Amino acid sequence: MRPVIFASKCLGFENCRWNGMILHSEIVELLRPYVDFISACPEKEIGLGVPRAPVRVIENSKGVFLLQPSTGLDLTEKMDIFSAAIIKTLKKRAVDAFILKEGSPSCGCKNVKHYAKAEQKNTTTKSFGLFGQKITENFPFTALEDEGRLTNFTIREVFLTRLFTTAAFREIRTLGKIKDLAAFQAKNKLLFLAYNETSMRKLGKLAANGAKKRAEETYKAYAEELCNVFKNPAKPGAAVNVLQHAFGYFSKEISIEEKAHYLRQLEKYKKGSLPLSAVTLLTMAYITRFKISYLLEQTFFAPYPESLVTISDSGRGRDSYR
Ligand code: SF4
Repeated sequence: MRPVIFASKCLGFENCRWNGMILHSEIVELLRPYVDFISACPEKEIGLGVPRAPVRVIENSKGVFLLQPSTGLDLTEKMDIFSAAIIKTLKKRAVDAFILKEGSPSCGCKNVKHYAKAEQKNTTTKSFGLFGQKITENFPFTALEDEGRLTNFTIREVFLTRLFTTAAFREIRTLGKIKDLAAFQAKNKLLFLAYNETSMRKLGKLAANGAKKRAEETYKAYAEELCNVFKNPAKPGAAVNVLQHAFGYFSKEISIEEKAHYLRQLEKYKKGSLPLSAVTLLTMAYITRFKISYLLEQTFFAPYPESLVTISDSGRGRDSYR
C-alpha cells in the first residue's frame, strides 16, 4: 500500500509562491519514491496569479478574513468555496496525511500570523491559515503537520510511523474482513504498546470482539482509536520494556561484548541521547540474524521503510503535538 499525502504545491511541486518561487522540502523529496502525492496551491486556485501581492489573515471582532492589503480584496469567500470543493475530493480519495507550508496565511496549520487590520505591522495572535483550518477541522483523524515541524527528528519519526500504519490499516479496511483486523492488531501490538498502552488495549478489545458486531462499525471505532495512539511520541519507559522483551529472545545467542553494546544503546535511548529508531534498527539486525519470526512480524522494529530514517534534526517544535 502506497500512502497518499496531500501537500502544499509550493513544497517542491510548482513555482507557485507569491514571489514566483518554489521551496525545497526535504521530507517531500524523501517521501517521493514511497508515497503518492496530491498537491494544490489554494491561492493560485482562487485566481490569484503568480507572482502576486501577498495576502494576510485579518482577525477582528467581525471574524477571520483573508485579505490582500495592496488591492483591498477580501478573498475569504473564494477560499472557503475552494476549500469545500477540495475537501470533498480528498474525502473520496482517502488521504493518509497532510504536509502543509508552515506560516502561510492560506495553508498554515498553526503559528500563522493574524493581524487586526490590513495595514497593521504587529501581529495580534497566531493561529491557522484559512485553508489549513478547514483541513484541520475536516480531517481530525488524519496526520497533519507543517513542513517546518517535520525537520524535527522526533516529530518526523512519529509522523512517518503514523503515516505507514494508517495506510496499512486503510488497505485492510477496504477489504472489510474482521480476521484481517485481528492480524493487523497482532503485528502492531508492540508498536501500540510503546506509544500508548491504553489505546493498545482498547484496540485489542475492538479487534477481538469485532466478529460480534458489523465489520463496518468495528473498523470505524478502530480507526478513531488508532489516531489516539500517535498523539505523542513513543514513551521511553514503554519502548524500553518492548526492547528488553525482544532482547530476551536473542540475549543468550550473542557474546558478552554484544550484550554490553546493546544495553549501552538502550541506556542512551532512555537518557534521550539516541533516537528510538537507532535502537530498533540494531534490534532488527539481531532478530533477522536469529530469524525470530514473532518479532520479525512486529511493525515496532520497522514501522516505515528504513531508507526514510534520516538523522537531521532542527529541534523545532519539539514539545508540541497536535
Ligand atoms: S503556501 Fe499554499 S497558498 Fe501559498 S504558495 Fe504554497 S501552496 Fe500556494
